[in-house]
Amino acid sequence: MSETTNDRAAWLKGGDAQCRVPPPLKRKPRRLVLLGAPGVGKGTQAELIHERLGPCQLSTGDVFRAAKSSCEGERSPALTAALEHMRRGELVPDSTVLDMVRERARCIRCHGGFLLDGFPRTVTQAEALDRFFSENGITLDAVLSYELPIEKIVARLSGRRTCEKCKAVYHVETRAPRIPGVCDHCGCGLVQREDDRPPAVRIRMDAYERSTKPLADYYRGKGLLICVAAEGSPEEIFARTHAALEQRGI
Ligand code: AMP
Repeated sequence: MSETTNDRAAWLKGGDAQCRVPPPLKRKPRRLVLLGAPGVGKGTQAELIHERLGPCQLSTGDVFRAAKSSCEGERSPALTAALEHMRRGELVPDSTVLDMVRERARCIRCHGGFLLDGFPRTVTQAEALDRFFSENGITLDAVLSYELPIEKIVARLSGRRTCEKCKAVYHVETRAPRIPGVCDHCGCGLVQREDDRPPAVRIRMDAYERSTKPLADYYRGKGLLICVAAEGSPEEIFARTHAALEQRGI
């Protein structure tokens, strides 16, 4: 069981927001990046890695979704434009994403480590992250790349449902909630993300192919890439992930 509440307030809200329970000092910090096409099961693995190994899931997509439910008057013009890109399934411009991550840099410096999910998404973002690491004396432990054939990805995305409130992820067939349409954790309603609908899915897969795949090559070149087959149940995929990390002493 996790020792933190995983409310990720500092990451999701930015500014001066504090997490309710900071990560314990004693646990070995892991500093990881997760890669994988939308729908490959990366978010589910991030939750399992957080629960069992400790680092918080820092998802840039979650920050944008949190901003979407904020008051329109509170959003900067850049954030409003970013949400429009997101609604169409396109990538948000690098400069906007990097500003947003910079505002939350203390989460990357956190003594509990981090699990970056959905960032970096382009080589430009990865290079900016590397500069941040070297300026702050931070070493990345590994980049986990989850891999699955495209037709299986499409099937997973169309059945995915997300909790409106706590963002827990379910699947109508393979990870069904106890009560259909209701979150097991907080009892709120489950919804299909706008960008999980077919037209946006196609655009997202294209964006992934063009922008994100070169990232795997970038991290392979640095000796950090660990490829994990994303077939099977979440537990099986987690067991593969854990074994690969242990093998490298991470
Ligand atoms: P995700 O939940 O990671 O699939 O992200 C949902 C959407 O947020 C993406 O389709 C993009 O529009 C946007 N987004 C999230 N992270 C990034 C990023 N690092 N770079 C560009 N766009 C992003």
